[in-house]
Amino acid sequence: MTDEQLMRIALDEARIAASLGEVPVGAVVANDGEVVAKAHNLRETGRNATYHAELLAIDAACKQLGGWRLWQCELFVTLEPCPMCSGAIINSRLRRVVYGAADPKAGCCGGLTDLFALPFNHHPVVEGGLLQEEAQALLQEFFIMLREKRKKK
Ligand SMILES: [Zn+2]
Repeated sequence: MTDEQLMRIALDEARIAASLGEVPVGAVVANDGEVVAKAHNLRETGRNATYHAELLAIDAACKQLGGWRLWQCELFVTLEPCPMCSGAIINSRLRRVVYGAADPKAGCCGGLTDLFALPFNHHPVVEGGLLQEEAQALLQEFFIMLREKRKKK
């Protein structure tokens, strides 16, 4: 599969998150263009701050591949990873990270700060902006809906 096809699967995951009332973020771990694992944000459903799409996808990929080193894998995520997920990307040795929308409030791939610019022992290749309009539109729709819900209450 191409990068764009893999990102479309991540976007589908983000839509699942939105349908559950979760901030729409989806992630896919791929190896050589094939999906190894996919996940969506489940922070509200799971009542757990660590249930971000990226962490859940990394967790599922480790289980699938039977190891913690994902050096041959790539991560596709609809929103720029936060500090926690960027840390997990370094620790799991992911080879490449491709994200959709930038996150100036919490993004650690250059949005707010660039964690990967620091001298850690692992540096993934990072590319942003793939299908960003779609990822951004999903997030915007979600927050507009949330505001309207709150107004009604
Ligand atoms: Zn995160």
